[in-house]
Amino acid sequence: MHVERVPVPVATRAPHGTTNCYVLGTDRALLVDPPAESDALDAALSDRTVAAVAVTHHHPDHVGAVGHYAREHDATVWCRRGREAAFRAAASVAPDRTFVEGTTVRADGPVQVLDTPGHAPEHVAFAVPDGVVCGDVAVAEGSVVVGAPEGDMRAYCSSLRRLWACDPDRLYPGHGPVIEDPRATCERLLDHRYDRERRVRAAIGEGARTLDEITDAAYEKDVSAVRQLAVATVRAHVEKLAVEGQVRWDGERAAPA
Ligand SMILES: [Zn+2]
Repeated sequence: MHVERVPVPVATRAPHGTTNCYVLGTDRALLVDPPAESDALDAALSDRTVAAVAVTHHHPDHVGAVGHYAREHDATVWCRRGREAAFRAAASVAPDRTFVEGTTVRADGPVQVLDTPGHAPEHVAFAVPDGVVCGDVAVAEGSVVVGAPEGDMRAYCSSLRRLWACDPDRLYPGHGPVIEDPRATCERLLDHRYDRERRVRAAIGEGARTLDEITDAAYEKDVSAVRQLAVATVRAHVEKLAVEGQVRWDGERAAPA
């Protein structure tokens, strides 16, 4: 199945300043993550029919032009079952149909839905024959945001392991270039999380109790410019460790288990 990646400029602080919109198929294409109207996207769609529109998750830099392109092509709008209200609030359009884990959305060929929560609770990926459109689960360089309360570090790590196990030929990420070495990239992203997790656990072991104290101890570089993000990330790590019984956490203060 033909996969076309169209980077579309977005106003939010998205990595690379663009979000990748994907056109899957030619005759009856599935459009994934249209973030905004764009000339490049219009050109890519000029010679084909869009049968369906879907998003990997509801963040503003992924949903902005769902309604526009769905109306323009009279396409079916899909969303994750159980997330209809949130989808409608984010995309300003009601879904026509819903998918769940394992649903096959028909474009020119089969596109299979994979649940990949963590970065966002409703996050899904779309498996095509030659790869997986993975949204904000993976990026070629750097890492993605997984911050509490919305982000779930435990779920995120499971989603990365799932993509690793799928062993696709390539990953088509929400931002940046296509990932040609999916397993190495998933391993790099997991190592990054495990490394931070070790520091968070060590900080708590050494007496850090509040999120601020743990953040100060778990990051060696100055994070003042992205303080809120760092604290949200640390909280996601602490919540994961608490669920796993590795630390105690009452929502305010952490302690060794
Ligand atoms: Zn996102």
